Amino acid sequence: MSKPDTIYDNKSTEKASGDHENRRTFLKKACVAAVTITGADFIFPQDPESEYQQKTNGVRPWYRRITRWGQTNITEADPATYDIKWWRSYWKRTRIGGIIVNAGGIVAYYPSSIPLHRQAESLGGRDLFGELCRSAHEDGLAVFARMDSNRADEEFYNAHSDWFTVDKSGKPYKAGDLFITCINSPYYNDHIPSVIKEIIDLYHPEGFTDNSWSGLGRDSICYCDNCRKSFREKHGMEIPPGADWDDQAYRLWIRWNYNRRLEIWDLNNQVSRSAGGRDCIWAGMNSGSISGQSRSFRDYKEICARAEIIMLDSQARNDAEGFQQNGISGKMIHSLLGWEKLIPESMAMYQAGRPTFRLSSKPVNEARMWMTEGIAGGIQPWWHHVGAYHEDRRMYNTAAPVMTWHEANERYLIDRNPVSNVGVVWSQQNMDFYGRDATEQRVELPWRGITQALIRSRIPFLPVHADHIERDAKKFSLLILPNLGVMTDDQVVSVRKYVAGGGNLVATGESSLYNEWGDPRPDYALSDLFGAHITGKVPALAEDKNARQIQETSHTYLRILPEIRSRIDGPHNSSEPPVSGVRHPILKGFGETDIFPFGGTLNPLKTDKGTEILMTFIPAFPIYPPETSWMRIPKTDIPGLILNGSGKGNRVAFLPADIDRQFGRYNLPDHCNLLANIIRWTSNDNFPLIVDGPGLIDCHIYRQAERLVLHFVNLTNAGAWRQPVDELIPVGPLRISMRIPDGIAGNDISLLVSGRKLEGVVDKGWSRFEISTLLDHEVAVIL
Ligand SMILES: [Zn+2]
Repeated sequence: MSKPDTIYDNKSTEKASGDHENRRTFLKKACVAAVTITGADFIFPQDPESEYQQKTNGVRPWYRRITRWGQTNITEADPATYDIKWWRSYWKRTRIGGIIVNAGGIVAYYPSSIPLHRQAESLGGRDLFGELCRSAHEDGLAVFARMDSNRADEEFYNAHSDWFTVDKSGKPYKAGDLFITCINSPYYNDHIPSVIKEIIDLYHPEGFTDNSWSGLGRDSICYCDNCRKSFREKHGMEIPPGADWDDQAYRLWIRWNYNRRLEIWDLNNQVSRSAGGRDCIWAGMNSGSISGQSRSFRDYKEICARAEIIMLDSQARNDAEGFQQNGISGKMIHSLLGWEKLIPESMAMYQAGRPTFRLSSKPVNEARMWMTEGIAGGIQPWWHHVGAYHEDRRMYNTAAPVMTWHEANERYLIDRNPVSNVGVVWSQQNMDFYGRDATEQRVELPWRGITQALIRSRIPFLPVHADHIERDAKKFSLLILPNLGVMTDDQVVSVRKYVAGGGNLVATGESSLYNEWGDPRPDYALSDLFGAHITGKVPALAEDKNARQIQETSHTYLRILPEIRSRIDGPHNSSEPPVSGVRHPILKGFGETDIFPFGGTLNPLKTDKGTEILMTFIPAFPIYPPETSWMRIPKTDIPGLILNGSGKGNRVAFLPADIDRQFGRYNLPDHCNLLANIIRWTSNDNFPLIVDGPGLIDCHIYRQAERLVLHFVNLTNAGAWRQPVDELIPVGPLRISMRIPDGIAGNDISLLVSGRKLEGVVDKGWSRFEISTLLDHEVAVIL
């Protein structure tokens, strides 16, 4: 890929004067300039047919063309010893196109003239940010000035104590020695904008990120005068006395907080663009965890609707979700942001996670597998070191091989659209108002159970926001609602339309049982599609009983229907004939058992005529002592799995039994196999990809104009469910069958990791080929 000598453009950072009229004129000019100036902007050479290329006439701003980033997170000790020459060689070696550099906020890494903007401890007059910014620009790299704007020291606090958060008693909230600033105060309205403007005036960075832009999290309520006044003006009531999800004031306070963060997002962009030009964007940072976004009041859907790029701060995996979480994050965020935009992700080269050692190298395969899964999900790599001097120098060898491979193959890794006919539905509103204070049990475990069952079954899927069901419905032959308890009336209507249009549906647990605030509905809003109705009163989410039930695992089972019972009384009565013979294909693989391990709890339901019940509930009985461990009630009519034909030939499966949550929690193969069977049956086993061969393989499919790009990530190793991975274990051969869409021949196959060329055997619309061995990952390009 060719690069111009310098990618930053003085024209785009031309300073416009601050008044509104001038700003409008400037923006107007800038918009015109965007389609006419080509010399200053980079022409992306590959893929002339790509959709984005056509839309933009080949002109891309910096935030759409830089695909590898690097960040040395400066510590306060660094200014004395920062060896910029060495780091420039590292930038080059790791093939990055931009750097993220600490600029201001809690501490300034340049000589700031803004009152109370404290300079870093050991700065000693050095203009470290300025030196780094100039060096990067000389090397043709873009600069994201990184801010950290939510705390200040005691001197600042004493000067403006009314800019800081306080608890109900008026005591300031602190983090260590620092005081936490209030999102509704002039700190965010005036102070941070003045820092942004000063940095633009002095250095012209391409844009801004901010590590902690969204202020105090949900767990602490601020009662400062600014907050009280603003909330009163908006809602005519006082700030709620505490967290109570059933209190309307608290619910409104949650939404009011989300809205304020969006105002800050808009304000910061307005400030940076008006001072630095149209492309001088402010991009904040966001998390890979939706519950994390919820606790920080960051509305992902609304942020993505505004954002030009998502700077993803998700540095390492957690043990529960594995590397595959990164692929899911990429697809989830792209589905909100659009696939033409970029999502660089901060990837730790130090031992991040559990445990954390900021100055030790992360085991190299652990770090690279996280990068690899991110790339498979459409994320761009961004190495991250803490501190500019390291005695453990091994970490400097981790990123370069991944980055070099990425550079050589990047035309296959961006500008592509995912191929999948399975959508898994989620929403942040469900995380907030259904998940409440039990997000893991109510929302994350069911989500994990469904998505892990799909990955284990090698069925590519896409996350779908519940507000986008109607927009995206055409892509999917199956939608899955994994215990999506909270659904708005509009979302319910869109699912109904989707099914009426012939779509297949799997829903689990309490899907659609609660309204947008988490208040119980008298029945599932989708009860007619499920063919099932609540018979008693739906409990409020706040009731302890409900919360306890989902946290505990009960010694319960499901009875598989019809029973075979050939050996129910043991080998002595094996001559007894089966009571029934033929089981539904969903129960494939369970022919030798009449019971199924469950763990959850079920209540009676009324089912509609025409439904088919394949499993019923067996209530709990003792585990200890073993003498007591026998079924007191071997059979009930309480349904665990219901099939309902919607009359148009499409298939609906409703699983009141929370098998997805149980699988998310315990990884029991029976749970996975049942979920996979349900998904396969409701989809008529109609998937574009079949992968034969052993191993836990995460598969992703993308389409570019004239080709398909398939990622296979090998998750088969001793650390699949717990950090770290040390040794990679190869699997193979894998026999791949890929359905070939119109416009692609399917016989020309290039493997981008092993470098091999293969000939695909094309037959009846499928291309078949073999990957002989898979170590960490492989990418197959099919022409
Ligand atoms: Zn406040």
